[in-house]
Amino acid sequence: MELKPLMNLILEHNPNADTALIEKAYNYANRRHKEQLRASKEPYIVHPFEVVKILATLNAQSATLCAGFLHDVVEDSTASIDDIEREFGKEIADLVEGVTKIDKVHFESRSDYTAENLRKVLLATAKDIRVMLIKLADRLHNMRTLKHVRTEKQKRIAEETLSIYAPIAHKLGIWRIKGELEDLSMRYLKPDTYQLISSKINEKREVREKATEDIINEIKNRIKSKEVNATIIGRAKYFYSIYKKMKKKNVDINEIYDLIAIRILVETIPECYTALGEVHEMWKPYPRRFKDYISNPKANGYQSLHTVLEGPNNKVIEVQIRTIEMDRVAEDGIAAHWKYHGTERDKKFDKRISWIKQLLKWRSDSDETRNFIETLKMDLFEDEIVTFTPKGDPINLKEGATPVDFAFEVHTYLGLKCSKALVNQKLVSLDHVLLPGDIVEIITAKNAEPSRQWLKFVKTGKAKSKIRSYLKITLESQKKPNIPEPAVISQADLVDLIELTSKKAPIKFSKCCNPSYGDDILGFYTKDKKLTIHKKDCVNIHSMDKNKQAKLNWKKDKFKNLMTLELILADKVGGLADILNFFVAKGINISKVQAKPKKDKNFHTIIEIENIGYKKENLLAELRMFDAVINAMFKE
Ligand code: MN
Repeated sequence: MELKPLMNLILEHNPNADTALIEKAYNYANRRHKEQLRASKEPYIVHPFEVVKILATLNAQSATLCAGFLHDVVEDSTASIDDIEREFGKEIADLVEGVTKIDKVHFESRSDYTAENLRKVLLATAKDIRVMLIKLADRLHNMRTLKHVRTEKQKRIAEETLSIYAPIAHKLGIWRIKGELEDLSMRYLKPDTYQLISSKINEKREVREKATEDIINEIKNRIKSKEVNATIIGRAKYFYSIYKKMKKKNVDINEIYDLIAIRILVETIPECYTALGEVHEMWKPYPRRFKDYISNPKANGYQSLHTVLEGPNNKVIEVQIRTIEMDRVAEDGIAAHWKYHGTERDKKFDKRISWIKQLLKWRSDSDETRNFIETLKMDLFEDEIVTFTPKGDPINLKEGATPVDFAFEVHTYLGLKCSKALVNQKLVSLDHVLLPGDIVEIITAKNAEPSRQWLKFVKTGKAKSKIRSYLKITLESQKKPNIPEPAVISQADLVDLIELTSKKAPIKFSKCCNPSYGDDILGFYTKDKKLTIHKKDCVNIHSMDKNKQAKLNWKKDKFKNLMTLELILADKVGGLADILNFFVAKGINISKVQAKPKKDKNFHTIIEIENIGYKKENLLAELRMFDAVINAMFKE
């Protein structure tokens, strides 16, 4: 194990690499792992060394390469993240920490492939795509050396690789790593099938290679005559992809390995279509097998033309046609972008858009990924995309969601007052379909309100129900425009509320102090045998005859004009305050509030409010629109 050839490999892929720093990382890792051995009994440093080699061929830049050397020092040795930061700076320390975090998520058995565990893996890497690249290189080398570990462990690691890491490599479009991870997993999970396929392939290798060569030469001559410069190569098929094809199409290995797979690389996009036209003239294309991923790239950025032809002697020829640049992106996937953008880091690119976009969209584009989701029982991820607020907070939405869904998801008020939306800083219509990774900004307007039209395009249950109940309330208030304004209880009603000890004289409210319900009051008999009611602190009382005074109380127990609400509130900051403000804004007085936390962490809340004539159902409907309100009802 020599550092020099590795450095040359690194410089070959990245001439500006910081060789001094990389060497420092190598020496540091070497010291820290000094006494340790791999399961193969080799010195431990062999592992990080091989990981860096893999990263170098993916055109990784200096920080990633350093982190590749250091990725196990925190997990396996005495160094801490702080030590790494002190020696190598925050960027490299963050990468190492990310990889260490993923290592802490253990998938011991199939039942551990839960959304929760996967989320942990995603979260550890969501900040920086390079963390996952290092993890994939790490896993690839561990898979290459898996024969040295115990049999049970082999199975577990192979299963985890096939269920988690190969699909991630697929979603990141890193074909080389994906194919090798799958083949290595298969070797341990289905050793018999693996042996069968590999022996079959080797058995007729010569015959097949000759046939492939003939086809390649034929195409080469034909295309040359059209003055198109093309490189044509035979494609090695991964064993696992052959196995999957056998299973999917329920065919014998003989039918598949007879297949000839070639790739045509040209310089420009028009040349792709020229080459396509030529091969379609040479052999008959299978109907419905042609796919144009150049005009419709796959979610992971893959671009190519695919076609299948009926070749000579009934041989099936699978052809891929693409430009050299497309081929590089196809093979290296997201890693190709490092070089593409030329700079050490293109954080904006890899941090947010790409990583999240690829990973969280993975379910949509092939059977394979759909199976993956099933394996993981990832119901939670079903149809889900992640978008962001301008501050970078992730908002999970259903696929096909619009800015209106987004607004209601953030806050009910934002939904109700939503008038315009910016997606990635561009103004869009409210029914615009959001894509994973979009940054969405909602612009509100005071007089904005939900329209019936919105129901036609919103996707989330939350937005739907909130819009519906809003429309219902408006509709009802239009039907009965007389929702009473907050009013003082009439004096006639007040009379009923006075608790009288004996049948007394008719009651009259004094005009001087105008008592209202709840005030401390006193009664005075007048000459005409009426009882006039004054406030206890009315200035006129002093001049009245105390012998004609009667003590009075309000009827508290028969207080018809109070209503008791029972609310179940989620434990949300400001949740109760929002509700109280709502009553205040409506001019409804609150006479009592009681909130008790329950075992389920929700708050069981009793609110006594003044009855000023709002329709009960309307009040309940409005209350239920608050995010914090789980349920609302009136207590009889
Ligand atoms: Mn490792």
